[in-house]
Amino acid sequence: MKKWYLVIDVEKCENCNNCVLACKDEHVNNDWPGYCAPQPDHGQKWMNIQGIERGRFPNIDVAYLPAPCMHCDNAPCLKAAGAEVVHKRPDGIVIIDPVKAKGKKKIVEACPYGAIWWNEKLELPQKCTLCAHLLDQGWTKTRCVQSCPTGALNILHLEESEMQHAISKEHLETYLPERQTQPHVFYKNLYRFTRCFIAGSAAITLKGKTECAENAKVSLLDSSGKAMAETDTDNYGDFKFDNLPENSGQYQIRLSLQGYQTRTVNVTLGKSINAGTISLTEN
Ligand code: SF4
Ligand code: SF4
Repeated sequence: MKKWYLVIDVEKCENCNNCVLACKDEHVNNDWPGYCAPQPDHGQKWMNIQGIERGRFPNIDVAYLPAPCMHCDNAPCLKAAGAEVVHKRPDGIVIIDPVKAKGKKKIVEACPYGAIWWNEKLELPQKCTLCAHLLDQGWTKTRCVQSCPTGALNILHLEESEMQHAISKEHLETYLPERQTQPHVFYKNLYRFTRCFIAGSAAITLKGKTECAENAKVSLLDSSGKAMAETDTDNYGDFKFDNLPENSGQYQIRLSLQGYQTRTVNVTLGKSINAGTISLTEN
């Protein structure tokens, strides 16, 4: 049977929080019996936008990770509370029963993604329901997906085999796969949040003035000297190699430009770094 999947493009999220507000509009003060009790006015983020800043001035960037409940197939919250209290629906959606979960605060700690929030007044653990009350009425989109102005959020209703095809075609990944929860939320361009870059600039001296070295060939080599990637500097002399693992150690950057001596510099990658301005000397 078809199942629901949320696909989130990290590259497209601008942190506008429209999705957060749409979720509030749908759930604050609204009771959806069988699905969820009202979300309180403050303190809960069923759609939680997390941010990260990478690099060092002037080579920095920012990425945002919209993180709702992952609607895991192998859900630790279900294991902790039991299938009577937390229900995995055949369509993939995970629902915390708003009646049977009363007083069961330990479910909050069971989620490895921090996606469950405690409602002090109602004594209830609460989280994103993937707007199941709307999908069950024939809606094809959740409120967050409907409100996203950039297309960062998409919902799919597919057979498992079709989803497998989409995963390989669109290079989709799950967040923190080492937690082995088998989420129904997939990410595109997740490297913007989870991986690192090496950036820098190339410069030359022309008539006594320092200028940007445009169109220099830049190679990234591993510690053994094996070429890993290649790019050209832009009109500001800048270059960037992205999607590298954190703490991956030693690399070499080799710059070459016609009429100038080739230059190689060593860098050590912990987190995203700016290798600085690399000056090239005329032949
Ligand atoms: S993300 Fe957390 S709350 Fe959601 S299904 Fe997985 S374990 Fe449960
Ligand atoms: S509405 Fe879309 S762009 Fe705005 S914060 Fe949510 S996911 Fe990001």
